[in-house]
Amino acid sequence: AEDLDMLQSVGDDPEAITYLPALPVLAVVGRPNVGKSALINRILGRREAVVQDTPGVTRDRVTYRAEWVDRSFTLVDTGGWEPDARGINASVAAQAEVAVDLADAVLFVVDAMVGATSTDEHVVRMLRASNKPVILVANKVDDARQEPEAAVLWSLGLGEPWPVSALHGRGVADLLDHVLTVLPEISAVAKQEVGGPRRVAILGRPNVGKSSLLNKAVGEERVVVNEMAGTTRDPVDEQVEIAGKVWRFIDTAGIRRRMNLAQGADFYASLRTSAALEKAEVAIVVLDVSEVISEQDVRIIDLVLESGRALVLAFNKWDMLDDDRRRYLEREIEQDLAHVAWAPRVNISARTGRHLEKLVPALELALQSWDTRIPTGKFNALVAELAAEHPHPVRSGKQPRILFGTQAAIRPPTFVLFTTGFLDPGYRRFITRRLREIFGFEGSPINVNMRVRE
Ligand code: GDP
Repeated sequence: AEDLDMLQSVGDDPEAITYLPALPVLAVVGRPNVGKSALINRILGRREAVVQDTPGVTRDRVTYRAEWVDRSFTLVDTGGWEPDARGINASVAAQAEVAVDLADAVLFVVDAMVGATSTDEHVVRMLRASNKPVILVANKVDDARQEPEAAVLWSLGLGEPWPVSALHGRGVADLLDHVLTVLPEISAVAKQEVGGPRRVAILGRPNVGKSSLLNKAVGEERVVVNEMAGTTRDPVDEQVEIAGKVWRFIDTAGIRRRMNLAQGADFYASLRTSAALEKAEVAIVVLDVSEVISEQDVRIIDLVLESGRALVLAFNKWDMLDDDRRRYLEREIEQDLAHVAWAPRVNISARTGRHLEKLVPALELALQSWDTRIPTGKFNALVAELAAEHPHPVRSGKQPRILFGTQAAIRPPTFVLFTTGFLDPGYRRFITRRLREIFGFEGSPINVNMRVRE
């Protein structure tokens, strides 16, 4: 929580750019139930009971400071993953990928008693491609007789499997000694930029009016070119003062440079979009109201959702809208953009300059939602109320209960529910919907994850 408080207080000073202290980051990756939590507890030197059986003691975050011998590092618990409707393999691998991107090294945990599953193999492929150091942990090797089970995991091609028993502590000291040889002294990836002007990506398919919008905004407002102490300003971005406040537009060079690629244009466009999102805090997705909302528009919006960035929708070329088209547009919005009904919508014309100034409060609202933190006490009271108002349906004689919940992260608000069993997707949607009704979160995606107590 301190890290996040620090983030917020740094964010108050619009000109200051700071880097958070960058301890090396170790991500713990693996399927549900392989014993990641047990291993993390063991590494942190906590007793099992502290986390597992005391509902009052909540885990406020998924990032921990760990120490071994004379060194410290950041441990990232990726345990909140869960299968989704699109298939467990894809979602676990995708989420692992994000965690791995943000880590200096990875502990890949496999249940030696189960062996490698197809999900594991999916993740292994991604890990190999990541070029990050990966340490293969063969968990649940409770005594020496089980070590051959661990040796089988050589076949994964991730090098030597380290047999451990997270539960009993067996092998963990050796594992950590090895971890220290792999982790760099200072993180190469955790240098997160915080503070400074807020970072905006202008996205949209070709010809929707991104560069017109940018030119109009930049043309009428002041372009700020000050060098900031301690940073090398990225020349592909542009800082613009709008209504007394400086914004940093990401990859303006890319927006202005017309891309005339016959082949693979889509691929490069989405690569560019992803790169811009990586750097941005909020995205303006520009749509062209003179044309139907296309799959490509929706795909770009989905990239924003996947990136967890805040979102504002700009409906451009409003000057070209007639009554007929307007009726269709409303229907299209209802049909194709229902999943982002929470995003502020601004109707603009980059050509005439209409309502461009309305983008600013929309961006501010979205960022404010993105930064929102609900205190654990308040959140728990609410979850209890929701569960009383609308209990989870009984499934084959069982009724999963929510034990407690907490907000694990901001940017975007991410909640974790600790439960006695899997919650129906419908029930999680209910919780998510009610959270939005109560707190708004206009312009920000929110995540509601669950963790089933084993
Ligand atoms: P980009 O590819 O998204 O950067 O799109 P551009 O900014 O290059 O715009 C594509 C075309 O749409 C150009 O011919 C613009 O003049 C036109 N355009 C952009 N915004 C508007 C608008 O608000 N109204 C009208 N009528 N045309 C626009």
